[in-house]
Amino acid sequence: MEILLLLVEAILVYGLVLGAHALRHRVGLTYFYAIIGSITAIMSWVTDAGIRVEMGGITFLVGSTVFYTSLLLGVFVVYVFDGPRATRIAIFTVLGISMLMPVIALILNLQASLVHGGKLGYLPMPSLRINSASVFATFMDLIFLAVAWEFLQNRLPGLHYWVRAFATLLGVMWLDVVLFNTGAFAGQPDFLNILKGTLYSRMIISVFAAPILVLYLSWEGRREGIPSEHRPLLAILQQFSEVKQELNIAQQEIERRKKAEAALMESEEKMRRLAATDGLTGLANRRHFREQAIKEIAECVRYQRTLSLLMVDLDRFKAVNDTYGHESGDKVLVSFARSAEETAREIDVVGRLGGEEFALLLPNTDTEGAAILAERLRRAMEENRVRTHTDEITVTISIGLARWSEGESLDDLLKRADQALYRAKNTGRNRVEIAGSPA
Ligand code: GH3
Ligand code: MG
Ligand code: MG
Repeated sequence: MEILLLLVEAILVYGLVLGAHALRHRVGLTYFYAIIGSITAIMSWVTDAGIRVEMGGITFLVGSTVFYTSLLLGVFVVYVFDGPRATRIAIFTVLGISMLMPVIALILNLQASLVHGGKLGYLPMPSLRINSASVFATFMDLIFLAVAWEFLQNRLPGLHYWVRAFATLLGVMWLDVVLFNTGAFAGQPDFLNILKGTLYSRMIISVFAAPILVLYLSWEGRREGIPSEHRPLLAILQQFSEVKQELNIAQQEIERRKKAEAALMESEEKMRRLAATDGLTGLANRRHFREQAIKEIAECVRYQRTLSLLMVDLDRFKAVNDTYGHESGDKVLVSFARSAEETAREIDVVGRLGGEEFALLLPNTDTEGAAILAERLRRAMEENRVRTHTDEITVTISIGLARWSEGESLDDLLKRADQALYRAKNTGRNRVEIAGSPA
């Protein structure tokens, strides 16, 4: 008799929840949320009051069998038909009221003890442990419900609809039993008995509730046209993943811009380098060499430093071109450039002033130091062999050396070095001549 009453109760409450859901097309989901909110409040009250039905040694707690199951059904159908967003609202409605109820009960009890000097007989004092366990278990259950439903769909697509619904429902029920009872009663002597008893009662209630759920799902499914959407696993947590995705996109955009900026800077740098160097030898071109030399002279003026300059011209170079061709001539020019770079120090600037004329700028170097370097370079060229199509040839150089003297302009310095070079040519080539002091 009692159990019949329980079943009628269950059918009525399920009907209320599913009915409110079925009417959502006409009145919106708001009423549905209101109803599951109310049912949560009633559940909390009925559970605290300890209303139960015994049958065959199994205890059915009315709060958890009738009311909690109806909430599961409600969240279940909302998830299937209305998507993760609506489900989140439903879950937070249930959780919010679950947390509010014990607080209200606590305040009312406090009020009663102050006013009447006693506790309320019909509003039990909430237990912090039981209520925390309940809220936590509820949260986990509802998340699990959505995940299990999708998981079964993704992993076992052939599974029959009602098997999937029943498996999900039973899974949630049992998870709830374990989570709630462990949280609320672990450590108490009759913990295992309570656990076993509730497992049975949940099994029975699932067998009873599953057909109602399946009937509703297939009826709604026909009405909606599609039985259910296929959602990614954990769609219920999608908001988080959406935010994460947006962050990812923003991150990628930042990376992309950084890269574009770096590429732009690199190409600008390349252009600058290109504009400053000679195409054949890679040495500083005339313009860049002059710029560097002017800067260096300014430094000398400012810091009372010294500076020397070598003017270099290849000997009888016209003959190389005429005998072996222009290409071999170019090869000689490049080989000179490499020798000059090898001989010069890090701070020196080697430039191609034009044709087969070169210059070396030697900061912080007096005549003596410059002469040593010039001699080393001259010897390097003398010992250097360049392969042409037919021969291995040696091309020597003549060098004019001038040390910058105070107050001298770049053009005057170049002119003195050039005069020294001219002398080197006239006195037999393949030699270094040092310019005299300016007039
Ligand atoms: P000298 O010892 O008096 O300097 O004799 P030279 O033959 O080197 O005389 P000059 O300086 O007049 O000759 C310069 C030659 O350099 C003329 C030209 O054919 C050659 N030349 C100039 N620029 C280039 C170049 O970029 N590549 C090649 N292969 N030859 C060049
Ligand atoms: Mg020459
Ligand atoms: Mg020349």
